[in-house]
Amino acid sequence: MNLILFGPPAAGKGTQAKRLVEQRGMVQLSTGDMLREAIASGSDLGRECQAIMSRGDLVSDAIVIALIEARLKEAEDAGGAIFDGFPRTVAQAEALDAMLAKLGKQIDRVIRLKVDDTALLARVAKRFAEQGRPDDNPEAFSVRLEAYNRNTAPLLPYYADKGLLTEIDGMGAIEVVSSTIDAVLAAPVS
Ligand code: AMP
Repeated sequence: MNLILFGPPAAGKGTQAKRLVEQRGMVQLSTGDMLREAIASGSDLGRECQAIMSRGDLVSDAIVIALIEARLKEAEDAGGAIFDGFPRTVAQAEALDAMLAKLGKQIDRVIRLKVDDTALLARVAKRFAEQGRPDDNPEAFSVRLEAYNRNTAPLLPYYADKGLLTEIDGMGAIEVVSSTIDAVLAAPVS
């Protein structure tokens, strides 16, 4: 089972992915986490991406596709992946389909967490105060939101046309969103 958690930054994708990992033994593939690890380790990749990320812009398709490719087989062997923050462009989605096809796999479901911009801004202001993530500052966050609307939202029809997309309300309490996701995953693919 391969699941994409889709939604704007701070929609709750990471929280839900971590829960599904704990409860279902799936593997979370978060390009944002991988890039933050690269920055923390001081690698060449981290140095290359740090300024782009702190501005809130997207790093190149080639970089994130390579990060996913390096971990995909292991995730598939473990029973499937939860993609969190990837794909973010149509080129990434097409590359993902091709990489999965090589392994005889496919995306099984895409769940979009819908959260309005006012709620996102409130969440991210709280997260910035608590965790101090540099790209959660208000200027970078507005760039991230713009990148989502420009590059990532156009992916929705890509998955809707394949009949894979389910949209859910991501505004409620974490437990409510969790049970909605569980219900979607329990239902047969239409
Ligand atoms: P995230 O934690 O998913 O919000 O990602 C944090 C930042 O990492 C983003 O604002 C981008 O700069 C970069 N990033 C993460 N995933 C991707 C991706 N799939 N494509 C391009 N840039 C990404």
